[in-house]
Amino acid sequence: MESIGVEGEYEKLKAIFLPFITPSHLVPVVDIARIFAIHGVDVTIITTPANAAVFQSSIDRDSSRGRSIRTHLVKLPHVPGLPEGVETINATTSKDTGGKLFEALNKTIQTQFQQLFHQYKPDFLVSDMFYTWSVDAAAELGIPRLIYVGGTYFAHCAMDSLERFEPHKKVESDDESFLIPGLPYNMEMTRSQIPQRFKKPDDPFSYLMKMVKESEKRSYGSLFKSFYAFEGAYEELYRKIMGTKSWNVGPISSWVNQDASDKGSRGHGKEVEEGKGKVGWLAWLNSKQKGSVVYVCFGSMNNFSATQITEIAHGLEDCGHDFIWVVRKIDEDESRALVEEFEKRVEASKKGYLIWGWAPQLLILDHPAVGGVVTHCGMNTVIETVDAGLPMVTWPLFAEQFFNERLLVDVLKIAVPVGATEWKSWSEFGDEIVEREKIAKAISLLMGGEECEELRRRVKALSEEAKKAIQIGGSSYNSLKDVIQEMNSLKLEKLNKPVT
Ligand code: UDP
Repeated sequence: MESIGVEGEYEKLKAIFLPFITPSHLVPVVDIARIFAIHGVDVTIITTPANAAVFQSSIDRDSSRGRSIRTHLVKLPHVPGLPEGVETINATTSKDTGGKLFEALNKTIQTQFQQLFHQYKPDFLVSDMFYTWSVDAAAELGIPRLIYVGGTYFAHCAMDSLERFEPHKKVESDDESFLIPGLPYNMEMTRSQIPQRFKKPDDPFSYLMKMVKESEKRSYGSLFKSFYAFEGAYEELYRKIMGTKSWNVGPISSWVNQDASDKGSRGHGKEVEEGKGKVGWLAWLNSKQKGSVVYVCFGSMNNFSATQITEIAHGLEDCGHDFIWVVRKIDEDESRALVEEFEKRVEASKKGYLIWGWAPQLLILDHPAVGGVVTHCGMNTVIETVDAGLPMVTWPLFAEQFFNERLLVDVLKIAVPVGATEWKSWSEFGDEIVEREKIAKAISLLMGGEECEELRRRVKALSEEAKKAIQIGGSSYNSLKDVIQEMNSLKLEKLNKPVT
């Protein structure tokens, strides 16, 4: 086991990690916890049984590799109206259930935190942004709190500018573009592309996000899955506007999940490849030529209407390239029947392969047959795709994804936009339908167009930088080393403080 030695160290540095209960917050925070354990920190992850089931096999493997890491389970109380065992917020969770879960989870962990602190005696806390109370809890206990906020530095800088200067209030219509001031490049957006919370500052989620930002500013620092070559200028700007420290630990997924069992089991429960056996996708990809397949996945929280699903299906059939399409659970009979019919057709012609539920994304992105990705611009997928050296078609949907799209398309120039114009909540279909022609056109440009050769070259170069970042002496490696040393120094300072 690799360990970072610190002069005067006589006991392992200990940390508690509090991941949130949506897949795209749980997966990276657990990955971050594991990288700290790889680098010699004693790690305890606090979560509920159903969430632990998603990642426990990785923790068991890490433990058997000699790392000091464990999961501490907290049981949620019975909440009236919540079905037993429902502990995760995902694409199929209603707003009402999500709200109840959020409240129950916060209350449970918050009330047990003192006892957890006495049991594990952490030297620092790494908290997901949604546990806003933990900034005060850590302060009371005299330990530093690091926050995981998700998203790119780029998006955080743009959202800060929206809050400060409110340029979206100075345009007349939702589709009139405006400049987001204070950024290193002239970023233009429309009101229909920015998150709801900037337009409805008084609704409960907007209030929660204000609390998150306030707790972010009061934290000791932030952890990002980014790396310097990806958005260094925005990393520096973020520190300036937030007035806090931050450290990069990305690309985290390839750093931590280095073998196929880690990559294959990451982030999934029992949804994997319903009815197709474990490695149907692998046999299919193995039969394809290098770089010929486009991988289409909209993350863990997407919801599409039957009309939009029909357009995606036709767009894929018309794009002229082979594809893998990850389809979330579909409740409506109409959409499900439609996709099943489509699946039969494209699997018979060998043009396409559908994965229902959870795809082993890291393994798929690594496969040589994959030549491009259609993504909703979720930060995790963006970094994983850049790391794999694959260009993207961007189709942002919700959260900070429209900002990420600008970074990929305008700043880094490694993606082709599908042309989505409307931000929607993850739990809603929204009004916009992206038509099949736009989908097919963007994919064929990405996969075959000569005009995209430069773009493909740029993403390969960035992938090299991503790989260098996590090697010994690389920017993210040094950043992880720095934060661990800083936590160690704070611990030693505390131990050496004379008792008054
Ligand atoms: N993911 C996966 N298989 C899936 C869907 C998602 O492994 O079928 C992983 C993906 O690799 C990424 C995360 O889940 O790490 C999704 O996070 P992202 O930020 O891309 O999107 P979100 O789920 O927040 O919309």
